Amino acid sequence: MSSLKLSVETLKGVGGKTLERLRKLDLKTLQDLLLHLPLRYEDRTRLFTIHTLEVGKSSIIRGRIEHVSEVTKGKKMLVCHLNDGTGTITLKFFHYTSAQLSFLKNTEWLQCFGEVRWGFNGFEMIHPEYPASLEPALTAIYPSTDGLYQKDLQKFIAQALLICNAELVEYFPENFLQQFHYSDFKTALQQIHAPKKLPSPYLLQRLAHEELIVHYLRMRFEKKNSQRWQAPIFTTNEAAAKDFSNSLPFQLTGAQKRVIAEIQTDCQRKQPMLRLVQGDVGSGKTLVAAFTALSAINSGYQVALMVPTELLAEQHNRNFNHWFAQFNFKILYLTGQLKGKAREQGLLDLQEGKIQIAIGTHALFQEQVQFQNLGLIIIDEQHRFGVNQRLALQNKGVSGKIRPHQLVMTATPIPRTLAMMQYADLDVSIIDELPPNRKPVITRVLSSKRRDEVIAKINQWVAKKSQAYWVCTLIEESEVLQFEAAETSFEMLVETLPKVRIGLVHGRMKAAEKEAVMTAFKNHELDVLVATTVIEVGVDVPNAGLMIIENPERLGLSQLHQLRGRVGRGDSESYCLLLYSTLPEVARERLHIMREHHDGFVIAEKDLELRGAGEILGTRQKGQLRFKTVNPDTHAHLFDAVQAWGDYLLANFPQNVQPLIDRWLDTATCYVDV
Ligand code: ADP
Ligand code: MG
Repeated sequence: MSSLKLSVETLKGVGGKTLERLRKLDLKTLQDLLLHLPLRYEDRTRLFTIHTLEVGKSSIIRGRIEHVSEVTKGKKMLVCHLNDGTGTITLKFFHYTSAQLSFLKNTEWLQCFGEVRWGFNGFEMIHPEYPASLEPALTAIYPSTDGLYQKDLQKFIAQALLICNAELVEYFPENFLQQFHYSDFKTALQQIHAPKKLPSPYLLQRLAHEELIVHYLRMRFEKKNSQRWQAPIFTTNEAAAKDFSNSLPFQLTGAQKRVIAEIQTDCQRKQPMLRLVQGDVGSGKTLVAAFTALSAINSGYQVALMVPTELLAEQHNRNFNHWFAQFNFKILYLTGQLKGKAREQGLLDLQEGKIQIAIGTHALFQEQVQFQNLGLIIIDEQHRFGVNQRLALQNKGVSGKIRPHQLVMTATPIPRTLAMMQYADLDVSIIDELPPNRKPVITRVLSSKRRDEVIAKINQWVAKKSQAYWVCTLIEESEVLQFEAAETSFEMLVETLPKVRIGLVHGRMKAAEKEAVMTAFKNHELDVLVATTVIEVGVDVPNAGLMIIENPERLGLSQLHQLRGRVGRGDSESYCLLLYSTLPEVARERLHIMREHHDGFVIAEKDLELRGAGEILGTRQKGQLRFKTVNPDTHAHLFDAVQAWGDYLLANFPQNVQPLIDRWLDTATCYVDV
């Protein structure tokens, strides 16, 4: 076995609590340690004279102890003056032992390390480290966690570098390294963990470049791999498709028809489809899924539809039941609420093929859920799931050499270069047309000082028999605070609008409660729905044409666009009011983009310009692609050539590819024989 894959437990000093803490940082193997990169460096390589010290910089100094005293006035502290002939510095300790006190009193020369500050009497250091020895290289400071000391992390990483030394080989050819002025992999890694001087950004880019190429190669293999499988072949039942279209109260858009046809062609091939359908909010992706499901079922296969939230699952369940009532299909709605006997029976029916469609959250893919003849997996709002989660699903429903077709759908446009990394294994269809007669949602950016006017507007609005959403946004990612905010707004509205029927839905409610509220809203037994961002995806109530978003500045523009997509689904004019609290000018500008634009792709691009890819990937797309060394902001210029270099490596140095992938990813997949 490669030493890179050895557990961190094999290192000296790792066990018990330390092991737990390393796990918390996702550091399981030596390879993980090697790719755990420093945040910054401390310079302990040289001694500074006191008159050359710089405030804010951590430095090593050496001097004669001139004076040690305890100050007892006010806060108790130990003060010590150090003089090196060029100047004096004050060392202060607020916590100290009597042993420390007598040590300092009996010591003549002291060498210590600490951050230099400017105090009342000139330079000072608070709690300097002593004794402090000179180090041959800069000291790397790593991202860590409570209770895990830098000293220990540094030791572990240094050990890992030694143990894995022989395996830190270069897999890229000389011409690649030369073109970018890169050093080889081992040198880059050593210089990043223990540099003599501050490492150049090219060293980090060297690693990031390699990581990007690895991701590309992996996705490419995943795609190839999927072609080894055979697929269930769907035959089109023209009559059923016609009946289904005729039963709809509208015509499919041209884009919907085109995408349905593209999928149809895929599903008649011998290899499993892997297709991503991208379409703006409200473009009608659910029907595309329904047509595909129809042809799967008519060809004798079962369908699994996975969504990220229970609210959305519930809604799809309702839609599919409504649409497919004419065909007598059986649908299993698999939620946490389905318990005991009913659950057992449902699962049994699924296994025996008595059920044609299973709808649910990721619970759908647990061990106990067995299909008789799964032919199609549909994943809605795929951006909420991670790449690994998606890849893992592909093996569900595999029987013999047959693997189900897979359709993934998303409204979140991501920049092309990022999409290439993330979806390199998928074919892409785009629904680039909204159903006709959709009027753009009239969007206003308002100060929350005008809240009373807004509330009056709600009153008029519901008097016209229309419904409204009141959305409370995320507060620092805390679900608790978020739902508290929603409850406060709910109570405020109930009090000010006593005649209006108001409901509340948030992520902490039980699924059954959520469903009851949503159903009541859908059936117009409620006029106003106060909600957290749980309604962000999928919720479809055409009669609701007014949305108020409190503190919209907390969300990214793409997320606001997704939320706003909940309104503008009916025939009449609809509104979105962005109710900001105090805002700096730039942030207000950002919200104005929402007023001017209604196309999700344009909004995503603008969002990208304003916030940078790093933040977009970091916050909204958590769990999608987790890079170790790539920073999408600073390394974006590398993306374009990734594919070419990946293909070059594969063509000319195929033997290097598997070990290269292994070095970066802890997937057990073997790609060699693909
Ligand atoms: P999304 O792409 O955001 O998932 P949905 O599938 O939820 O969009 O569709 C949004 C709304 O548009 C639904 O109410 C749906 O019934 C309606 N819809 C879908 N296709 C059409 C169409 N061709 N013409 C009119 N309305 C449509
Ligand atoms: Mg949808």
